[in-house]
Amino acid sequence: AFDVLVIGGGPAGAAAAIYAARKGIRTGLAAERFGGQVLDTMAIENFISVPHTEGPKLAAGLEQHVKDYDVDVMNLQKAAKLIPARTEGGLIEVQLENGASLKSKTVILATGARWRQMNVPGEDEYRNKGVAYCPHCDGPLFKGKRVAVIGGGNSGVEAAIDLAGIVAHVTLIEFDSQLRADAVLQRKLASLPNVAIVTSALTTEVHGDGEKVTGLTYKDRNSDAVHRVDLEGIFVQIGLVPNTEWLKGSVALSPRGEIETDFRGATSIPGVFAGGDATTTPYKQIVIAMGEGSKAALSAFDYLIRLPAA
Ligand code: FAD
Repeated sequence: AFDVLVIGGGPAGAAAAIYAARKGIRTGLAAERFGGQVLDTMAIENFISVPHTEGPKLAAGLEQHVKDYDVDVMNLQKAAKLIPARTEGGLIEVQLENGASLKSKTVILATGARWRQMNVPGEDEYRNKGVAYCPHCDGPLFKGKRVAVIGGGNSGVEAAIDLAGIVAHVTLIEFDSQLRADAVLQRKLASLPNVAIVTSALTTEVHGDGEKVTGLTYKDRNSDAVHRVDLEGIFVQIGLVPNTEWLKGSVALSPRGEIETDFRGATSIPGVFAGGDATTTPYKQIVIAMGEGSKAALSAFDYLIRLPAA
């Protein structure tokens, strides 16, 4: 059995494994895809102290750093079920999709999240070539250019306000007949001179020149008229879905499916901690996920040293 078993191999999971292993305790890490979302990222310019890197390079760095320590890495393994210990301080079980079962005194959940996609032609082709999901990450790449934000919930409207300060023009496209963001955000958005708001609109296609985005098409849901908008960037803000389906019924989740954690990274189950995009912690970013994963590992260690001697 492990002392610490980390589920997830993104920035949060890698940081958790390194922090745990540095305590000299038995550490395991199971991940469906080591590297996580970072593998899908191109330019990264907000990884503090590294002015510019690229996702695959950072992912390789994460893996190398973890491998420098005595961590039992189980890549390409998907966790399917978490079974709490029968008694406090007992072993927690994680069942894998392949039928195997792992046991550990503590578990750190770091399964991250995925951006909901529009699923329209061109979206995949132009991902990282104009189609973006993270305004904090990619906003500055569109300085002085024209962009659209897809989605009029809080995250879409926040993104549009944020981007309006950087880019030349923002078109916000909402499927519903009205925006769903908080009124205060909507008022702020409406006050900005370089923002156009389009409601009752279904985005139907992303256009490009083979290398980068050149525009999008949407259908007016009232008239069925099809409109084209010429632009250089599209920020898709229709939801970030935590990878926590497998935890339903075990760990307490928020209404959005995020793992509820306290300020130490503790979950509702004793001995189970969590960090990164899978949790209720706001602002889904690499540096934040690393901090959260590290914190969860230190909390797990703190928990372990308080267990009664066996
Ligand atoms: P993830 O990176 O999502 O990793 C989750 C890990 O858990 C993966 O290894 C996954 O395979 C594994 N996993 C999931 N489910 C299971 C399961 N059931 N069993 C086992 N393993 C499982 N942030 C920045 O700070 N700067 C940027 O420039 C930036 N750009 C981005 C660009 C894109 C296109 C995207 C998608 C995100 C970007 N982000 C950026 C956000 C950043 O990637 C995330 O905040 C960060 O990766 C979260 O780390 P995490 O470890 O919590 O989760």
